[in-house]
Amino acid sequence: MAHYRPPRQFLTEEELNNKPKVTSSLLKRVGSYLTPYWKQLVLVLVCILISSWMRLLPLILTGRIIDEGLIGRNLPSLVRLIILSLCVTLGANLIRVAESYLNSWIAQHITYDMRNTMFDHLEHMSQRFFTTNNQGDIITRMTSDIDGVKTVVTNTFTNIISNFITLIVALIAMFQKNWVLALIGIVIVPLFALPTRAAGKNRWMLTRDAQAVNDEINGLLNETLSVSGQMLVKLFCKETYEYERYKALNHQMIRLNIRESMAGRWFRVVIDTFSNIGPMLIYLVGGILMMRFNSDLTVGDITVLVALLGKMYDPVNQLLSFQVEWIRSMALFTRIFEYYDMPLEIENAPDAVTPAAAYGDVTFEHVDFAYEPERQILKDVSFKLDAGRSVAIVGPSGAGKSTIASLIPRLYDVTGGRVLFDGIDVRQLDLSYLRRNVGIVTQDTYLFNGTIRDNLLYARPDATEADLIEACRKANIYDFICRQEKGLDALVGNRGLKLSGGEKQRISIARVLLKDPALLIFDEATSALDSISEHAIQDAIDPLIRSRSSILIAHRLSTILAADEILVLKDGQIIEHGQHKDLVALGGVYTELYETQFKAGLELV
Ligand code: ATP
Repeated sequence: MAHYRPPRQFLTEEELNNKPKVTSSLLKRVGSYLTPYWKQLVLVLVCILISSWMRLLPLILTGRIIDEGLIGRNLPSLVRLIILSLCVTLGANLIRVAESYLNSWIAQHITYDMRNTMFDHLEHMSQRFFTTNNQGDIITRMTSDIDGVKTVVTNTFTNIISNFITLIVALIAMFQKNWVLALIGIVIVPLFALPTRAAGKNRWMLTRDAQAVNDEINGLLNETLSVSGQMLVKLFCKETYEYERYKALNHQMIRLNIRESMAGRWFRVVIDTFSNIGPMLIYLVGGILMMRFNSDLTVGDITVLVALLGKMYDPVNQLLSFQVEWIRSMALFTRIFEYYDMPLEIENAPDAVTPAAAYGDVTFEHVDFAYEPERQILKDVSFKLDAGRSVAIVGPSGAGKSTIASLIPRLYDVTGGRVLFDGIDVRQLDLSYLRRNVGIVTQDTYLFNGTIRDNLLYARPDATEADLIEACRKANIYDFICRQEKGLDALVGNRGLKLSGGEKQRISIARVLLKDPALLIFDEATSALDSISEHAIQDAIDPLIRSRSSILIAHRLSTILAADEILVLKDGQIIEHGQHKDLVALGGVYTELYETQFKAGLELV
């Protein structure tokens, strides 16, 4: 579980400097997700164009209703205009239905593409990425960030276009009626711009902050509400501590949310006031023009102008606040693209080879390795495992034993030297070929929540019932499965927690056996198993290692003795190697380990 981090108060300098830069390449990239749907987008655009125009038409007709129908006292004309106006409104609304259907269709398809790309990319990210990054952060990008894109497409983009069109149509209509009044109307518009800019900036910063806190909350939930996490919380009586942590973050979140929703409210007050001044000015100036200057303006014209002005302020208002939405959307895209651009680190070489057959021969040649640049974990490790043979690696905890295992299937790449598999540098081998031929039973066995059968079939979906039974027999778990009421269809529980450590390990041995790799790596659990479980596992692996190349990361004497050769690792270096007898006689580190731990029957941890 991560150390407690104080909740982030406000934006750090670094975050402030991280504002999205809206470059043409970013826009092009966003555009590249839209281009496959250009036909639908054009259709949406046409719909918006027609419906925006149609929605203003009844207003313009109102002028004629007043002048021709009411003031002109012409009933047939009045009825005709009213019916026309209603039909136009109905038409506009029908087009809007089509528009929203298309809109959500496009948005869903774009996010579908982005989610798939993201999942595919994340799946190929290196082990390092998953060990370093916060799980909550990864999930947030997969879920809410991409969902945000959907909102951007359905709301932001189309609203910008629709408001823009409404504005243009309203302006043209106003100028057609009377240019003086039209000018008066729009003179007030630029006055909105300044407060909007300031509020937008503030709101954007709050959004970033809220997102950071949201990530933190997700991380905390993942940590404390996961099976192992909550167990740790219980066992260390940390409920109150975690609750306080959560409460603090939650409080921070609501404060940010309230501030975010309030940001921009003040300038709305200003805008709303101005939007009332506009119509009054039009009545006043219109009246003066009619009464003093003998203008041919009619009451209908003035009513239409006031109504159009009303229709114009809203889009202006929204267009200006879209600056915030726009920046937020760009920040979203930037965050998503940041993930897309993370190098995969472990990739297939362009000229990767796929040999016809694998034998399981492993050679380490002067291998150096570091997880972090400043801390060397393996130093000049060299050893050779011939096909069909087995080697046990022993050494104190943290010596680097599991690290050696993870370099073979390229969970990490060496920082110096080479790892060869059947004489070929692992970096030159086709990655899936390599991983198909290397099976690891890890210390921390992971089983999916499902049945034993599901977990086994994960290794080989086409395995027959007979294959499954054979693998279970070899892994010495078949008797246990037979005792289950549902046999292979018994549920293993979340992460396999309904099973004991030993049972889980034997199932994972069966799973690896189904994969039938040329090389088997068995990273023995450091946790104590009772002697019956230990024997069951030992009985399972003894015949296996005799039939294929194996690396045993051993903590128990029985496992060590089963191997053909023993490597003693200390502080990332192989300091002794040989047979058990010779090593004991050597009087070195192995002898010490043997005397203090193995001999007494204790596990070596
Ligand atoms: P054990 O017997 O306890 O399993 P080990 O010999 O297998 O120990 P490794 O798991 O290989 O030890 O770890 C070697 C060192 O590398 C340890 O000091 C550990 O802290 C460090 N280490 C392991 N995994 C990572 C990682 N993902 N990032 C950074 N350091 C790591």
